[in-house]
Amino acid sequence: MNEGAHDHKIRLLMDLRRTGVTDTRVLSALETVPREAFVSDPFLEHAYDNRALPIDCGQTISQPLVVGLMTQYLDVGARDKVLEIGTGSGYQAAVLSKVARRVYTVERHGPLLAQAEERFKRLSLTNIVTRHGDGFKGWPEQAPFSRIMVTAAAREIPESLTDQLDDGGIMVLPVGDPDQQWVMRVTRSNHRLHTERLMAVRFVPLLGGVPRNESEE
Ligand code: SAH
Repeated sequence: MNEGAHDHKIRLLMDLRRTGVTDTRVLSALETVPREAFVSDPFLEHAYDNRALPIDCGQTISQPLVVGLMTQYLDVGARDKVLEIGTGSGYQAAVLSKVARRVYTVERHGPLLAQAEERFKRLSLTNIVTRHGDGFKGWPEQAPFSRIMVTAAAREIPESLTDQLDDGGIMVLPVGDPDQQWVMRVTRSNHRLHTERLMAVRFVPLLGGVPRNESEE
């Protein structure tokens, strides 16, 4: 990284701390993972801007503040087995991989998943496992998960995913329609679900199924 980018990164980390990302494990994960490795070439110089950026297949890499806060809300520790729905660029999965034991991440766009897998390999992030498929289905063979994060907005909390949440587990996800979405935290304890509304956000929608003719996208 050149000196300008380094300064840019330090400034971003200071901004995140000031705006609520205070968990030292999360801050050090954000410091360790090179966001510039996850953005598309035309946006390289904006890798440490505090904003979402476009990636292939009409999707986005989330805003650093949202990644930081959602990771913090998930309260992930070194023993946690985390399911992420919506791999996208792979950035959020990479951040999770620094605080969790293992990350299982699902993406419906094959080309995005292939790029993310390349990045995980290049950065030696060996505790991330990937799957191409419809995240609404979760990852039944690996369930239950102690933590679940969804990084695309569903209209409602998908029951198929809360079903894969372990007792004592936490799920963090954006819920709503394109005009109004909230990050929700769902906690399962004694087999009851407790739901909290945390912050207003804007995410791409969680869509069912897997796209066809993907090589033409
Ligand atoms: N976590 C990503 C954010 C990507 S945007 C990052 O850090 O870059 C959300 C992603 O969710 C998109 O890539 C989109 O294709 C994916 N997505 C949407 N619906 C999905 C579904 N049902 N299953 C799996 N992935 C889905």
